[in-house]
Amino acid sequence: MMRQYELVERVARYNPHTDEHLLNRAYVYAMKAHGSQTRASGDPYFSHPLEVAAILTNLRLDDATIVAALLHDTIEDTDTTRDEIDRLFGPEIGALVEGLTKIKKLDLVSKRAAQAENLRKLLLAIADDVRVLLVKLADRLHNMRTLQYVPEDKRARIAEETLDIYAPLAGGMGMHWMREELEDLAFQVLQPDAYRVISTQLAERRDESAKVISEIALALREKIGAAGIQAEISGREKRPYSVWSKMERKAVSFEQLSDIYAFRVIVENVADCYRTLGIVHMTWSMVPGRFKDYISTPKQNDYRSLHTTVLGPGHQRVELQVRTREMHEIAEYGVAAHVIYKENVSDSVKSGNGVRKDRLASIDSNAYRWLKQLVDMLAEGDTPEEFLEHTKLQLYQDQVFCFTPKGRVISLPRGANAIDFAYAVHTDVGNNAIGCKINGRLEPLISQLSNGDEVEVLTAKNQVPPAAWESLVMTGKARQSIRRAARTQIRTQYAGLGRKMLERSFARISRTYSDEKLTAVLARLGQSNVEDALSAVGRGEIPASDVIKAVYPDHRDERARDKASTGGTTRNEEGWFGLRRAMGLKFRLPGRASRESKLAAEKSEAGPGAIPIRGLHGDLPVQFAPKGGAVPGDRIVGIMMPGEAITIYPIQSPELKQFDEHPERWLDVRWDIDPDDPERFPAVIAVRALNEPGSLAEIAQIIGEQDANIDTVTMTMRAPDFTEMEIALEVWDLKHLNRIMALLRSAAVVNAVWRVNG
Ligand code: MN
Repeated sequence: MMRQYELVERVARYNPHTDEHLLNRAYVYAMKAHGSQTRASGDPYFSHPLEVAAILTNLRLDDATIVAALLHDTIEDTDTTRDEIDRLFGPEIGALVEGLTKIKKLDLVSKRAAQAENLRKLLLAIADDVRVLLVKLADRLHNMRTLQYVPEDKRARIAEETLDIYAPLAGGMGMHWMREELEDLAFQVLQPDAYRVISTQLAERRDESAKVISEIALALREKIGAAGIQAEISGREKRPYSVWSKMERKAVSFEQLSDIYAFRVIVENVADCYRTLGIVHMTWSMVPGRFKDYISTPKQNDYRSLHTTVLGPGHQRVELQVRTREMHEIAEYGVAAHVIYKENVSDSVKSGNGVRKDRLASIDSNAYRWLKQLVDMLAEGDTPEEFLEHTKLQLYQDQVFCFTPKGRVISLPRGANAIDFAYAVHTDVGNNAIGCKINGRLEPLISQLSNGDEVEVLTAKNQVPPAAWESLVMTGKARQSIRRAARTQIRTQYAGLGRKMLERSFARISRTYSDEKLTAVLARLGQSNVEDALSAVGRGEIPASDVIKAVYPDHRDERARDKASTGGTTRNEEGWFGLRRAMGLKFRLPGRASRESKLAAEKSEAGPGAIPIRGLHGDLPVQFAPKGGAVPGDRIVGIMMPGEAITIYPIQSPELKQFDEHPERWLDVRWDIDPDDPERFPAVIAVRALNEPGSLAEIAQIIGEQDANIDTVTMTMRAPDFTEMEIALEVWDLKHLNRIMALLRSAAVVNAVWRVNG
């Protein structure tokens, strides 16, 4: 624990006018007041206010602030009263300590209305005197640094509040280092795995890139020094949380971020900032769109610097911040820097009277003005919700805050949609999301969310998120979960297909497939488990015949001779022979099956061993041919494309011709429609109609009355007398489709109707 004289020495080092007697009295008073109280860590309680005071000496704050820090927990946790503090230390310090006491119990991660009200109280208390906020932030920083001693169930809440409220406030006040430290400490608690991964990677990169960094620094030093500019050049460390939030916000990978080297150049005056920039831009090519001049246009929190990115000596991306010493101080200490600058200007002002307040009120700081603005808004009598919306809007420029129906706040990067929201609530909620209500109205899941939206996610069990979502979401968490769910589903689907294929192959040689048999030969197949092996068969990576050969090494496959004599490829002889037998084409050579012969076989039913197809949402990896798929009732074939879903074609589709030379891809499939759970299937028809007003409407009406969905209508020809169009439909089955086509033909405006690809 820091000794009394050490604290006084630290203050005296930057403030020659410090009132040592005042500091000493406060030290002794607080130590006695807290007495034998201990912290969760077992340390004497007094170590906490002392550490908070020490943090504030790093910010070089005035005596009143340091004393308030020492006393900040006395009213709340000991017998001390405001009156007593006023009497012993003066009303200025009394007001600071009371302000800190007021905000101590505010719960900032509670329900929406209560949260808004609490945030409002917090801002009111700190806007009275910005030093309240400075002590509060130092208090929170020390509590976060010692969070490991707090019971685990309380940590997340404190960390969440830190990340949501205090870190942005520190940033808003321009105290950059504090914001970063608060963020990293909270991140470590809230997402320990992500924190570990990123900091480990950063540490590895640090060693790797040390050489590159010193090379770049050397090159910079040479070029800038040659122009006679005095400059201090240092590499900047990347912080785990800022890396993580960039990965989330900008959807970039760690690799993309880690190839960027960041440097800070501190020069003597503003003119040198621009000269340095000129030299850098003349020496290396700049990356367009990355130059920012925060000197001519400072940020809201008084931050000033020049930012640019160039392709450095070894063509790495080099990020530069160029600033003067004074700008650097403000970037680090923010509002606190202003407090101390004023202190030096009017160093005769003693603490403990009203003069101090005027001085603080006149702080020429954008950050402080910003805080004042927030508070002025309170006076306008907004409802707490509106207030929260305004405030949060300003506090978190890059974030939107939304609410669950129970009032939990979900913070998301700007541009996030309801899918991101669902995954932020819980991975299962995201995976099972089927729709959402935003502020009570049904809206598409891809709707972008705005500040203050209340989002209710509608879920259904056993859903699989569509793969297309991956490109629609903003947050890394959502993207990762969607990818993982898709991978799992595809693997399961292929394993299911593989199992069916093996069951058939075993049946054909009058054996029964079992997982035990497959397990016994896993090593020979080079697979580590049954699921992987089945999935490999389903994907066509392992022919079913190889599994048979592995299980029954003595079994002689007569078809193997067939294959040898024709020399055909038999990557998936399984599918090919199944199909041929189903079509009565036993003796045709692979690769020679013509479309005519298939048509001839059209009437024959698929073999009993054909793979059953349920539809798009069944348990197999299936898709329908892009232009005019098959509908139940059509004779169908499946085409296997390695690594892709099986594509189902109607057997008469001219598109199939392209696969004539690849018999190994053909798969014998049959419909297996569940009458209790019917599904619509895509089909395309072409219609030639009279080119007159109302004909399209009539066609649409006929289709609509028949309970079919129209997906798209594409005009393919338009002549003065006739138009031709292709209509993509969703129908129940072939009968349904034929009925629609017949009704269309009977319409007066329709000249002809035919099916595309079917
Ligand atoms: Mn405290």
